[in-house]
Amino acid sequence: MINNESKNQCVFCSIISGNINSCKIDENDKAIAVFEINPISNGHALIISKEHSEKVQKKSLSLAKKIAKRIKTKLKPKDIQISNSNLFGHSVINLIPVYQDENINSKRNPTTMEELERLRAELETKSIKKIKKPKIQQIKEKLWLPKRIP
Ligand SMILES: [Zn+2]
Repeated sequence: MINNESKNQCVFCSIISGNINSCKIDENDKAIAVFEINPISNGHALIISKEHSEKVQKKSLSLAKKIAKRIKTKLKPKDIQISNSNLFGHSVINLIPVYQDENINSKRNPTTMEELERLRAELETKSIKKIKKPKIQQIKEKLWLPKRIP
């Protein structure tokens, strides 16, 4: 049973309904993935089930895996910590990229919507092969190098 009053106060329901601004990464029919506005680390994402429920949906887990894979290839953390939580009785999965030793209890650093938009674009870009330096620059470097040797 859903208590309407708690549902109205639920921050995650507000994100899903659009009453709270968020930076959406992806979604399926049961869950959405957004960036955490107070991230523990760069790329910290939340998978929120569309239904106000404590139950972790299978579709939330599959979305979590999909986003985790994308974060791993694009942002290259050492690992990604996946932790379930339910605040206000609403099931949420935290995806925390681990670069050093971050975990769910680490300090949070508020970020901006602009920064999250930039991060989203980063996740969406296809990997580009490294562009070779133009030849003229290589020649300049060769000429420059011997001068630096005392
Ligand atoms: Zn809710």
